[in-house]
Amino acid sequence: MKFFNNSFVNDCEKDYVSEMTLSEIQRVLTNLQASPTRTLGQNFLYDQNLARKIVDLLDIQPGDHIVEIGPGLGALTCFLQRPDIRLTLIEKDDRLIEHLRQNFESETTRVFHADALEFDLRKLWGKGPVKVIGNLPYYISTPLIAKYASALSPASILVLTLQLELAERLGAQSGTKEYGAMTVCVGRRWDVSFERKLPASVFYPRPKVDSAVITLRRRGGKSVSALNETRFESLVRRGFSERRKQLRKMLPELKSDWDTLTLKLGVAPTVRAEELSLKKWELKRVCS
Ligand code: SAM
Repeated sequence: MKFFNNSFVNDCEKDYVSEMTLSEIQRVLTNLQASPTRTLGQNFLYDQNLARKIVDLLDIQPGDHIVEIGPGLGALTCFLQRPDIRLTLIEKDDRLIEHLRQNFESETTRVFHADALEFDLRKLWGKGPVKVIGNLPYYISTPLIAKYASALSPASILVLTLQLELAERLGAQSGTKEYGAMTVCVGRRWDVSFERKLPASVFYPRPKVDSAVITLRRRGGKSVSALNETRFESLVRRGFSERRKQLRKMLPELKSDWDTLTLKLGVAPTVRAEELSLKKWELKRVCS
């Protein structure tokens, strides 16, 4: 029985959907002598309907360049393959690389054995934009988001499967306990949509927590205010570093202006970081 074929999406779906079951994943892992490793955050998705729905969120168009972080055994990859796009797969586990190459490598699909945290997207075909997808290894979800959603990233959209708790933090509203520095720093450049919750039971091995799929769409140039990025992130991180403290105590450099500033923002001088919406954080007066 063939696990994948190396053809394009329709053939691939036909073979793959009927065969990709929990027992099939276990069979392939046994053949590869590769038991899932917690240190690589390996929880393989085995619900193919979900995999297809997650891929659909990318809204793939002819000519797109898609980058998949951590393809694993190819649960999402299978639905990504099309003759009219370019696909880049970045996988760290050396035990899975040959399998990925045999099943997916082609003129339009390149497999990189690399750490996605160190991978330089500029090495790829052209300069972008690229669409990024990944069922992320949980142990490095936060630094991966920081890298692939950074100001320099060529990504136009990211479709990410994450721990539910992290997804909730990224999409949080001000005033909630989930709202934090990451919400503000990512939200400044990206519109975050919470797509769906995924129960732990759709992964092998089953993770300890539920997951969620989120989409990050790059905000248009004009809706991203021109700020000193480094200063912005530093103020935000410091502001949130002790959530219970008033912001004026956390940002002493703004002390002399504080009353005027908070009056203009329409907030109490005793405001705390979590009470300041993204728009208010972005005001030039706070961050420039
Ligand atoms: N995409 C597959 C799926 O949905 O079944 C696998 C997802 S699994 C949660 C995470 C994958 O990321 C694993 O294949 C793991 O080996 C890979 N991985 C872990 N750390 C990585 C890193 N630093 N760079 C690239 N891939 C990594």
